[in-house]
Amino acid sequence: MSVLCTEAGGINLGQGICDIDTEHLVAEGAIDAIRENLATYSRMDGIDLLRKRIAEKAASFNRIEADPDGQIIVTVGATGGYAMAVLATLEPGDEIIVFEPWYGYHVSTPKLLGVGVRSVRTHPPDWRFDPDELAAAFNDRTRAIVVCTPSNPSGKVFRREELELIGQLAIEHDCLVFTDEIYEYIVYEGSVHLSMASMPGLADRVITISGFSKTFSITGWRIGYVIAPPDIAPGIALLNDLFYVCAPTPLQWGVAAGLEIDQSYYRKLAEDYEDKRDMLASALRDAGFQPWVPQGAYYMLAGTGGLGYDHSREAAESLLERAGVAAVPGAAFHPPGAGEDLLRFCFAKSFEDLEEACRRLRDFGRKGD
Ligand code: PLP
Repeated sequence: MSVLCTEAGGINLGQGICDIDTEHLVAEGAIDAIRENLATYSRMDGIDLLRKRIAEKAASFNRIEADPDGQIIVTVGATGGYAMAVLATLEPGDEIIVFEPWYGYHVSTPKLLGVGVRSVRTHPPDWRFDPDELAAAFNDRTRAIVVCTPSNPSGKVFRREELELIGQLAIEHDCLVFTDEIYEYIVYEGSVHLSMASMPGLADRVITISGFSKTFSITGWRIGYVIAPPDIAPGIALLNDLFYVCAPTPLQWGVAAGLEIDQSYYRKLAEDYEDKRDMLASALRDAGFQPWVPQGAYYMLAGTGGLGYDHSREAAESLLERAGVAAVPGAAFHPPGAGEDLLRFCFAKSFEDLEEACRRLRDFGRKGD
């Protein structure tokens, strides 16, 4: 859809590109590092200062106690972190559980390794899952479960009871938990972000994956990290070395500088996204969609029922052609046949671009009347 959108000169509310301005402190930190010739490979698990600052942030924000010298690996984005964690811990023939709608990489990466993927559905409006369905998804091949909170694409922020249940099942079946927490700072009023690795009894089986793409609006920088139990982390670090040697060094310095930012930055980030979320939800309703308002992250799934489309791809192409706004077909987040009545809209845009997209969506609604 991004390619089609560029060709059509549309506004891209499809891919989660996040084209708002990079935080000054982060940009200056990287520019200084380049000027100072900090341009060589770093340790395979990242520069000391960044690992130390991630450990401090993990302790204060996530309530995770992690040794920066042995449990934290700076990776090539959260994407690289997830891939290295999967490679380090799973074998072909193993199975992994994901919640549906899912983020595509959580499914494609294990599949590439020959790991089977089982999905458990979550249901709107608040994307709850059926505990019995989850329990039934575990079998003797299950090695891990993926928890993406806040979730892409549904915006679900998992509640404590849900995480406790997942943790209990993981203990019962001796499984790992991969948590993808890349949207941890983008959580809206009424919800709280919780990290499973901080919960009682789970620290030795949870691999926490996160990064800075979304928090500092630097999706192209490719800086993420993994926090893993001491017996698992060295394997992940070694794979990071084999595949990448290290994450880009000057950009690691930039992020380390960014982590000194005032806490008010994170509050403003979430507040701005909450305003954008509300703007988009209102425009989508006016346009004839049924938006499911997210609790976190910066995506909104919206139902297309009543607009007369049989397939989500057809709905996305028609919206792009008629309104000049790109969205992702809902089928991308489900197994074949499901999600055909959904589109996903991303609101990580400047206020100006989002206002224009909202105006176009409302025009689309009027044309359809
Ligand atoms: N995890 C989730 C759930 C995402 O939505 C995305 C990007 O859209 C990523 C990871 C990618 O993170 P990174 O840019 O750090 O690789």
